[in-house]
Amino acid sequence: MLKKANEFKREANLIGGAWVEADSGERLAVRNPATGEVVGEVPKSGKAETERAIAAAATAFEAFRQTTAEHRARLLRTLHDAILDNHDALAELLTTEQGKPLSESRSEVASGAAYVLWFAEEARRVYGDTVPSPWKDRRILVTKEPVGVVAAITPWNFPFSMLARKIGPAIAVGCTAVVKPASQTPFSGLAWGVLAREAGIPDGVLNIVTGSASEIGAEMTRNPIVRKITFTGSTEVGKILLRDAASTVKRFSMELGGNAPFIVFDDADLDRAVAGAMAAKYRNAGQTCVCTNRFYVQSGIYDAFSERLAAASRALKVGPGLAAGTEQGPLIDERAVTHMEELIADAKAKGGEVVTGGHRHSLGHTFFEPTVITGATQEMRFAHEEIFGPLAAVFRFDTEDEAVEAANDTNYGLAAYFYTSNLGRAVRVYERLQYGQVGVNEGAITTEVAPFGGYKESGLGREGSAYGIDEYLDVKYVCIGGLGL
Ligand code: ADP
Repeated sequence: MLKKANEFKREANLIGGAWVEADSGERLAVRNPATGEVVGEVPKSGKAETERAIAAAATAFEAFRQTTAEHRARLLRTLHDAILDNHDALAELLTTEQGKPLSESRSEVASGAAYVLWFAEEARRVYGDTVPSPWKDRRILVTKEPVGVVAAITPWNFPFSMLARKIGPAIAVGCTAVVKPASQTPFSGLAWGVLAREAGIPDGVLNIVTGSASEIGAEMTRNPIVRKITFTGSTEVGKILLRDAASTVKRFSMELGGNAPFIVFDDADLDRAVAGAMAAKYRNAGQTCVCTNRFYVQSGIYDAFSERLAAASRALKVGPGLAAGTEQGPLIDERAVTHMEELIADAKAKGGEVVTGGHRHSLGHTFFEPTVITGATQEMRFAHEEIFGPLAAVFRFDTEDEAVEAANDTNYGLAAYFYTSNLGRAVRVYERLQYGQVGVNEGAITTEVAPFGGYKESGLGREGSAYGIDEYLDVKYVCIGGLGL
C-alpha cells in the first residue's frame, strides 16, 4: 500500500483507466527548480488526447451519476486515507518538482487530504427543497443533480491541493473529470491518478492529460460535452477560457490573480502583525495568489514595523526545499526571477529604498533573496501588478479612509488582511474591503471549511466549504400537477 515518491511519478496520461502516451510520442521535460535537473518527462498531448479523455469521462458519468451519495462518500474517505498513508512520498515529489520547503509540501498534502475529507462529508448533505405551492393541486420540488463532465486546469504553485478542491466536490456529487495539471509540476497532478486507482474510483471518473496548455484548454472550452470548467491560474488565461467557452455556455468557477493588501494600523499588536506579515508574504516564496502584495502601514508604526519586517525577512533560511531547516525555496523558473528584478528596478527608479535583499541569491539557479522595499508608492508597478515572489513592498498612510481606498484601488479582489485592536475599526474596515477573503489580525486564513474565492477580476464562484459543492450541481425545479387535490 505505501509507496515511494518515484512510484507516484507517472510519466503518462490517464485516460479511461489506462496510462497512455501522447499520440505523437512526444514528451515534455520536468525540472527541479532547486537544481535545474530533469526530474522526469510527461506526454506532450493536445486536442485528440483531450477529446478522448472527455469521451471517457462522459461514458463513466452514465454509471457514476447513479451511485449513491454514501458510496461516493466512502470512495472519498478511502482516497483521503490513501493520501495520508503516502504523506511523505507525495510531499517529497511535490518539493522535487515545485521547490517549496518540505514542511510546506507536507502542509499542502495534508490540506489536500482535508479537502477530500470535507467533501466526503458534504456528499451526503446535498439536500433539495420543497416549496409551498401557489396552486392547490400542484407540488413544487427542487432537486440537485451533478452538472456532468468537469474540466479542471490547475497551476504550479499548489499542484497537489488545488486538485483536491476540484476533484473532491466533483466526485462527491457524481461528476466525472478531465484534469490538466501545469506543465512545470505535472507529477503532483498525475499522482492523483495513482491515488484514485488505489482508492477504487472507477475507470474514467478521473482522467488526466498533460501537454500543450492552449490545445488542451481549447478542446476543454469548445467541446460541448464538458459542462463545467474549473480553473485556477492567472486572470489573463481565465479571460481566454471565458471567451473560448462562450460558444458552448458552460458553468465556470475560477480562482484567478490577487493583489492582497495588508494594512497595519497604529493601534495594531506589532508582534502579531509582523508574524502575520511573514506568513502572508513568504509562504511558497511569495508565490501564492493570497500572498500580500502591498503592505500599507500607518505613519505612527511605520518605522517600527518596517524594521521588524526587514529583520525577520533577513533571517529567513533560503535553500533547497529538501534540505533540513529551509524556510524559502527557489522560485519556479527564470521568468519569475527576471520579473522580480524588473519590479525592484522599477521601484528603485521611482524612489523606493531596498532595506534588505534585492538580488538573486548566492545559491544560484532561481533562488532569490527575501526583499523588503520601503517608501513604496502607487506609481510603482507592484502597486497594480501581482508580485508572485519574495518581495515585501511597504507603503505609508495616515488615515483609515486613505488606507481602505488604496487597498481597494485594484482590479483584483481575492484576499486582504489588516491589523487593529479597535473593534469598531475592525468592523468598518472589513465591511469596506472589496475582497472575497479578509483576515482580521490573521495572516494565514485558508481552510477547507471556509469559502475560497475572489471579487472583481480575481474570479468566479467559491471553492471548499458548503458553498464549493454548489458549483458542481445543477438545480432542477419539478412541478407535479394533476394530483386531483
Ligand atoms: P501562471 O502564470 O501562474 O503560470 P497560468 O494562468 O499561465 O498561470 O497557468 C495556470 C494553468 O493554466 C496552467 O495549467 C497552464 O498550463 C494553464 N494555461 C496556460 N495557458 C492556457 C490556455 N491558453 N488555455 C488553457 N490553459 C492554459
